[in-house]
Amino acid sequence: MDGFLNLDALTCHPVSEDSVCLCCRDALTHHEYMTAHLQRVRACTLHIERRRQRQEGQNLIRHILLNDAHQHTHIIASVWISLAALPGSVHQQLIESDLPLGHILATLGIAPNFVDRYFFRCDAQRWGQNIQPYSVCSQGHFGRAHTLTDAHGRTLARVREWVA
Ligand SMILES: [Zn+2]
Repeated sequence: MDGFLNLDALTCHPVSEDSVCLCCRDALTHHEYMTAHLQRVRACTLHIERRRQRQEGQNLIRHILLNDAHQHTHIIASVWISLAALPGSVHQQLIESDLPLGHILATLGIAPNFVDRYFFRCDAQRWGQNIQPYSVCSQGHFGRAHTLTDAHGRTLARVREWVA
């Protein structure tokens, strides 16, 4: 866990979808759960590596990497999850397992529904120790942010994801 960047302190500049570098678009402009989407378009198997996690009451906050079998990082994400909005049957899974949030939501029959989405770019910088990006964009680090809701519009999670 040592040496990992504090994602919540990163300065990110909002950009239009058209300004997202072409090399990052396949990872950011889709409307599916991230892990399932990338596994399909990049034909790889991804797993989560949790770098930071803390629980504050009914809120679970975690910083994760999405890595492939070669330990290359595809996505870096800061995820805020509302445990109160999700059934108790998956709380332990969310807190203890490395299953992607999208996978857990899919098993609950919750389809991906994103609101308040925007894209951003961060100035190039080191992510921290032991991170080997899957690819490197010459224009910096692009990402997206959105709120994940259920069919009734209830907030389930807030997510910021960067292409590593
Ligand atoms: Zn690029």
